[in-house]
Amino acid sequence: MVSAHSYTVILDRDKTINDDPGYLNDPAKVALLPRAAEGIRLLNQFGIRVFVASNQAGVAKGLITPEQLAAVNERIVELLAKEGARVEKIYVCIHGDADNCDCRKPKPGLIRQIIAEQKIDPLKTFVAGDRARDLECAIDFKIRGILVGDDEKHEPANMVLRAANLFEVASYVLEAVFEEESHRKVHASATAFAPELEKTRASGKKVVFTNGCFDLVHSGHVQLLAQARALGDYLVLGLNSDRSVKALKGPSRPVNNETDRARILAQLPYIDAVVIFDEDTPIELMKKIQPDIQVKGGDYIKEKLPEYAVMRELGKEIVILPFRKGYSTTGILARSGSK
Ligand SMILES: [Zn+2]
Repeated sequence: MVSAHSYTVILDRDKTINDDPGYLNDPAKVALLPRAAEGIRLLNQFGIRVFVASNQAGVAKGLITPEQLAAVNERIVELLAKEGARVEKIYVCIHGDADNCDCRKPKPGLIRQIIAEQKIDPLKTFVAGDRARDLECAIDFKIRGILVGDDEKHEPANMVLRAANLFEVASYVLEAVFEEESHRKVHASATAFAPELEKTRASGKKVVFTNGCFDLVHSGHVQLLAQARALGDYLVLGLNSDRSVKALKGPSRPVNNETDRARILAQLPYIDAVVIFDEDTPIELMKKIQPDIQVKGGDYIKEKLPEYAVMRELGKEIVILPFRKGYSTTGILARSGSK
């Protein structure tokens, strides 16, 4: 299951979360921007951590007292709380340009402090703000940035999106998190998968292997995969590459390319790893994986399978599981009128 808990979003304050009349020093004048609380709440709901990093040079200039700054921050927290949204901590630089501190954005000090104090992973972090400097302060840490609004014309090198508001920021972050987390299960080759497999074996898990094209995933596939997983502790799915699907099923297949097929399968909770393979049979892949059990879905006679000799030599088991009757990708295509 995808977990978003290890991700973090660091937000600018003025013109990102709240409106800014300039040197905001009166809590009564605090107003949240449209969809700001909704966006923060959405991140909260997925367990994504939210912090604020804000330049407040008004303090150095004597336009905002430290007490006023605290009162304004408190008011923002209070207004967010009314909408069920929460920021964990607000980090502030109170210096002006003349102070030449390390924390005034675009300098990296505030971000460095958050990384150290909160023990966050920069590669699982996003920054968002209305100014280029809100993004630039995070470039050294390879943190991705989202510009909010269209006031800023300069687009920093780490910008991945321009969003209208924090709801759009949250939507983008969620999409990226789910994509990344499911992608962790997908391996482009047996070689790329070797370190992960070694770890799995070392932890004493019983490895189950099955393979196929999974072009248009149907309930027969899903049930077979759930059953395969129930036979052991760790299910590896060998996924035929686009080239090998074409070789097996003809030039009009696959309907979905290997990237999409892998993406769909990786979202299934009982699949632990997807490995794409390019050969016509999974034999080479199986020699490398050496599964404890191979599951074959369909009407097969064990002894007639090309992989039978390999599994026998390894002293491992093949389990034939019948497909649910009436379910096949070919059948779906026939019903839809394509071939
Ligand atoms: Zn500073």
